[in-house]
Amino acid sequence: MKTYPDKLSRAQHKFLKKLFPEGDSGFTEGELLSCGVDASRKHAKPLALVKPSTVQQVSELLAWAQKDRMPIYPRARATNKVGGCVPVKKGIVVSMLGMNSILDIDAQDFVAVVQPGVITADLQKAVEAKGLFYPPDPASQKISTIGGNIATCAGGMRAVKYGVTRDYVLGLEVVLPGGEIINTGGRTHKNVVGLDLTRLMVGSAGTLGLITKATLKLLPLPETSASMLIGFKDLSGCLKGAGAVFGCGILPAAMELMDHNTLKALEMHSAVPWSSDTGGLLLLKIDGSQESVTTDLLQIEKALSSVITTFIEKGSGDEQERLWELRRVISPAAFNLGPDKQGEDVAVPRGKVAQAIEAYHEIGRKHGVIVLCFGHLGDGNIHVSVMYDKSASGQSESALKAKKEIFEKTLALGGTLSGEHGIGLTKADYVGMQLGQTEMNLMSGVKTVFDPHNIMNPGKGV
Ligand SMILES: Cc1cc2nc3c(=O)[nH]c(=O)nc-3n(C[C@H](O)[C@H](O)[C@H](O)COP(=O)(O)OP(=O)(O)OC[C@H]3O[C@@H](n4cnc5c(N)ncnc54)[C@H](O)[C@@H]3O)c2cc1C
Repeated sequence: MKTYPDKLSRAQHKFLKKLFPEGDSGFTEGELLSCGVDASRKHAKPLALVKPSTVQQVSELLAWAQKDRMPIYPRARATNKVGGCVPVKKGIVVSMLGMNSILDIDAQDFVAVVQPGVITADLQKAVEAKGLFYPPDPASQKISTIGGNIATCAGGMRAVKYGVTRDYVLGLEVVLPGGEIINTGGRTHKNVVGLDLTRLMVGSAGTLGLITKATLKLLPLPETSASMLIGFKDLSGCLKGAGAVFGCGILPAAMELMDHNTLKALEMHSAVPWSSDTGGLLLLKIDGSQESVTTDLLQIEKALSSVITTFIEKGSGDEQERLWELRRVISPAAFNLGPDKQGEDVAVPRGKVAQAIEAYHEIGRKHGVIVLCFGHLGDGNIHVSVMYDKSASGQSESALKAKKEIFEKTLALGGTLSGEHGIGLTKADYVGMQLGQTEMNLMSGVKTVFDPHNIMNPGKGV
């Protein structure tokens, strides 16, 4: 078993203070505790917090860390839900929020060059001001960073039409353990020279190197968009509705599903627009030119007339945000159904969504916990929240059993344990359910080539 330093030596402390002076490093109890937690609600205390503002500082840090075998824990806004930022082997937490400049937005090349600490929504606004579009839109976009999105390969609502973060990363500047700075990919939209190191870095969750700059692909900004919230009696109605939409040859920019338990949670959270006979919802967005959006909406309404709906509400412009707010508040609203949560983001082949959700509800009933299913119907990525009360006898065990059975069912249907959140700490024990030994050996071989002394985010799965 590999051991790591338990505390900083005087020389190590001095080195960090010199490299990160004037408030760019932290060693107090408060600073260390607050940078040791993330949205997974797991926590650990590191030995130090540092906040680089240049790639040279990152390079010097990683040269030192390699020499001293010091764990490095990259951290951005800590919105990941799997414990990706938690310093389980102590070491140094490296906050990337100080490297937060948009360096270039180029309407000729259709690229943006950014530092990792740029907030996702800030980049989106900046490119939109120039008539350009950066599609990846995790629901956390107002708080998460581009660096965190790249490190987790974040998805979002628009993935059904536009893909995920991976599809927009053209090139990266990365500092490797040992301090060497490499540049992968570039500014071209196509590049097939050598193995694709850019894609390897995307989703590697800080286990291979520290991302210090990214070149991102942009698209022309669609002229307009409109949204529709459609109620159905039950889940099977929702899926028929989705089939009707796809059946008329339209690929929505987003298509989200909410099951009856999600509706219940939202009804307990705030006033809702749907009728009481609604047992499932579809929320979709169409984008394009003014003309095409109007035509698509008419076509969708016509297609939906062959399916039983309980209500339909439409919105365009800023007004549609009211509908999307319902989707964004599901996470906090879910706690109306139980004080504790095991939140998973499995994905199944699109054709298996109905079977999967029905099975997840059955698993919940069997174990006496409430299972909420919502999320990205358009790409089969379902957020499954197991709500329970850990203060009630046996509920924690029941929730864990339900989680394992949800994973088993997902894999039996040809799905994956995580569509967008990754493995981190919370799913590390389950990876072997999905990956074979040979695949795992190949992955750990790659890790060793990049990080021979396992100093990058040790203790985590990717
Ligand atoms: C309300 C809410 C909604 C969410 N919705 C979505 C969603 O729709 N889709 C989705 O995919 N996720 C979603 N998430 C999860 C989360 O927002 C994403 O994983 C996001 O990409 C994390 O960004 P961050 O800036 O917070 O990164 P952090 O959480 O700080 O870091 C994430 C991981 O990346 C590593 N890392 C950070 N910066 C770097 C860097 N510069 N170099 C190398 N490694 C680095 C960290 O070590 C960690 O392992 C949601 C989370 C919340 C709380």
